[in-house]
Amino acid sequence: MASLPLHFVLVPLLAQGHVIPMMDMARLIAGRGGARLTVVLTPVHAARSKAVLEHASRAGLAVDFAVLEFPGPALGLPEGCESHDMIREYSHFRLFCDAMSLLAEPLEAYLRALPRRPDCIVADSCSPYPADVARRLGVPRLVFHGPSAFFVLAVHNLAKDGVYDRVADDFEPFEVPDFPVRAVLNRATSLGFFQTPGLERHRRDILDAEATADGLVLNTCAAFEGAFVERYAEALGKKVWAVGPLCLQDSDAETTAVRGNPAAVDASLVVPWLDARPAQSVIYVSFGSVVHLFPPQVAELAAGLEASNRPFVWVAKESDGLDPGFDARVEGRGLVIRGWAPQMTILSHPSVGGFLTHCGWNSALESLSHGVPLLTWPQFADQFLTEMLVVDVLGAGVRSGVMVPITHVVMNPEMSKVQVGREDVERAVAALMDEGTAMRARAKELAVKAKEAMAEGGSSDSDLTSMVRYVTELVQREKDVAEVREREQDGR
Ligand code: UDP
Repeated sequence: MASLPLHFVLVPLLAQGHVIPMMDMARLIAGRGGARLTVVLTPVHAARSKAVLEHASRAGLAVDFAVLEFPGPALGLPEGCESHDMIREYSHFRLFCDAMSLLAEPLEAYLRALPRRPDCIVADSCSPYPADVARRLGVPRLVFHGPSAFFVLAVHNLAKDGVYDRVADDFEPFEVPDFPVRAVLNRATSLGFFQTPGLERHRRDILDAEATADGLVLNTCAAFEGAFVERYAEALGKKVWAVGPLCLQDSDAETTAVRGNPAAVDASLVVPWLDARPAQSVIYVSFGSVVHLFPPQVAELAAGLEASNRPFVWVAKESDGLDPGFDARVEGRGLVIRGWAPQMTILSHPSVGGFLTHCGWNSALESLSHGVPLLTWPQFADQFLTEMLVVDVLGAGVRSGVMVPITHVVMNPEMSKVQVGREDVERAVAALMDEGTAMRARAKELAVKAKEAMAEGGSSDSDLTSMVRYVTELVQREKDVAEVREREQDGR
C-alpha cells in the first residue's frame, strides 16, 4: 500500500453550485486518514470560500487552495467575472468556458512545481480541462458529477441512443431507453448543460473526460438513487461511488451559515424570525445562484405568495425588479432577503415546511436531507430532471407547472414571460403546505436515510472508503510499475 497521506487535488467548475459541494468533499476526504486536499480556485472563489477554509484548518484538516489567476479579461470578459453566477451577458458564457480551459497550463505548472506529484485529481465533469494535465503527469483522475445520477444516466442513455436526431421538434415526447423507471421527456427539458452553439468542443471534452476517467464520484446516496447509480456504473463499465449528500458532512452552525458567500442577512437575524413561527409553517423561496426570473414572472410569484397568506422567506435578486411596496405589504409574514441567504441555516430550521426551488441539485439535496418537501420550479440544465426525480420517483414534491426552459423563452420573444400565474402559485403552495402530508412524510423518511448513508458504515461512508482505497491501489500500482522499469534499466 502507498504510504499516507494521499494528496488529492480537486478542480471544481467555477460556479457556486459546484465549488460548494467540492469544498464539502475536500473536508470529508481530509477527515479520512489525514489525507491532504488542495482545491483549485481563482481569486474570487478563494475569497468566497475563505471562511470554510479557516474553519477546516481550525478543525485540523489538511485542506488548502491553489489560487490560479482567471484568464477571462484576456478573452474579453470583465475583470473579476470568475463565476457562472457573475455572467450577465449570454455571449459571455462561451468566453467563460474558453477561459476555464486556459487554466490547464497554469494548473500543470503548479502541479509540476509541487515537491511531489499529487496522488489523484478529482475534476468536475463540467470542467474537463484537467484530463490532459492528469494524463501528461501520469496522475490518476476521477470525475465528479454535480447533478443527480438520474440526470447523468438519462443524458448518457439519450446521447447513446441518438434520439435527439430523430425527434421532429424540441417538444416531441420520448422515453429514456434502458432506464430503471419510465421517464418521458423532450429535447427542450433534457438537453442538460453546454448546449448552445460555440460550445461543441467543450461538450466533446466533457464526454472524453468522462469516458477516460479512472472512476466517477456522485453527490448522492443509494437510498435516493441507488438504481440509477448502479445502472450508470454498468453503462460506463467503471467504478462509480455515491458519497453524498455532501451537505450533511458539516452540521456546524458557523460554517453552514457562510457556504459560498457571506450572507446578505446574518443568520442571527433569520433564526429568531424563524423561531417565532410555528413548526413547518414557513415556505422558503430561492432560485439558486444562477437563475434570474423575468420581472413579470417575479410579479406573479409575489402576488401568489402575498395571496397565500402563509409565512415565507424569499431570496430575491436585484434583477427581479420586485415592487418596492411588497416588503411593507407582507411585513410580519414575509421576510425578503436581497442577496445571498444562509440557505442551510434556513432549511435546517424546524419552522421551514417547504422549499419553492429551481431544482438545482444541491438545493434539492439540502432540502431532502432536512426533511423539507419541494415545490419545483425548474428553469434549465438538469433542473427538469431533478423535478421528475423528486416528484415522480421520490414522491417528495409537487410541480409548480413550468413546461418550457428559460433558454427557450429567451430565444423566442413571442413566448410568454410568465409560465406560472399568481393563482397557480397560490394553488401549488396550498398543495405543498396544506395537502402535502404524504410528501412531507416521504421527505422526512429520506432525511433519515440520508443521515444514515453519511454516518459511519452507511452506504456513502462505505463508498468513500472504497474510493480512497481504490486511489491508494492505483498509486501503489503506478509505483510498482515504475520500480520494475527502474530495475530493468539498471540491469541493462
Ligand atoms: N446558496 C446559498 N444561498 C443563496 C443561494 C444559494 O447558500 O442565497 C447555495 C445553496 O445552498 C446551494 C448552492 O448555493 O448549495 C446552489 O446550488 P444549486 O445546485 O442548488 O443551484 P445553482 O445555483 O447551481 O443553480
